[in-house]
Amino acid sequence: MRHLITQFAEQKNCLIGIADPNPIPGVRERLEQTETPFAPKPPMRKLSPADYLPDVKSVIVLGASYAPPCAEVSSIIARPGEPYTGLISSMALSPDYHRTVRALLIELAGLISAPHYKILVDSGGPVEREWAVKAGLGFWGKNCCVISPSNKGSFFNIGLLLTDLALPASQPGDMDGCGTCTRCLEACPGKALEPFRLNYKNCVSYITQKNGELSAEEQRIMGKQIYFCDICQRVCPYNEGVAPEQVKVSLTGLMNMTEDTFGQTCVYTAMNWKGFKILKRNAATVFNTIYKWG
Ligand code: SF4
Ligand code: SF4
Repeated sequence: MRHLITQFAEQKNCLIGIADPNPIPGVRERLEQTETPFAPKPPMRKLSPADYLPDVKSVIVLGASYAPPCAEVSSIIARPGEPYTGLISSMALSPDYHRTVRALLIELAGLISAPHYKILVDSGGPVEREWAVKAGLGFWGKNCCVISPSNKGSFFNIGLLLTDLALPASQPGDMDGCGTCTRCLEACPGKALEPFRLNYKNCVSYITQKNGELSAEEQRIMGKQIYFCDICQRVCPYNEGVAPEQVKVSLTGLMNMTEDTFGQTCVYTAMNWKGFKILKRNAATVFNTIYKWG
């Protein structure tokens, strides 16, 4: 069984590890003390794999590298000489990982003939990154990402396959891989990072997804970022040579976009979740901050 999983990981260019399903110590307490957006806190948030599959015996954790941008988004990519441009993280332009990672896990469940299984891709309570460390995909970085010390860095999305198959667990990835490095803390435009802690309210990834009006400070922190931000990953030495490009997009193209065009262009991407108005607001914000008001 183990060799099938290893072969699958090699064929799909993924990271895969296995963890026992026992709850991870300290996670509940950490979540209770941490403000997190877009997710409920315990006890509303159910953290244990057994809450999702009562006879669970193993948690298979898969890390899939970011996919290239969808073909449909080519119309918003800046042409050479475009005067007004902003930046979008490649993950926002790729096919939505919730679907691509789920598809990979469905394929894997079929391959190992899992009698009962449950797939969680940002769709349940367990904290995927905690399980990724437990299953040995990588270590916790000071930038709050899971970093693979092999050649994968941190640019991967995580999904969980809970199964009632009993599989041997992988060695956890709980090493200190950062040492004295502080590059990510220094580079963060919102100064949102302390080692291993994120103040999400100052994080561009959150700001570019939140509803409502943005404060002057939030607009300043965004800089040229229209959607998501991965600066703290880009500067990380473990990502040298594996960081996907930030994509330069046309601000005028985005500001003139209609809802229909948004549907055709962004329907397969993660940006579809927050919708048309948020993307247009962000494009107008970057235009006003960087170009109009200087
Ligand atoms: S994603 Fe950007 S804003 Fe958020 S912590 Fe990383 S560098 Fe800071
Ligand atoms: S940039 Fe340095 S401190 Fe930050 S996660 Fe990477 S190795 Fe760790």
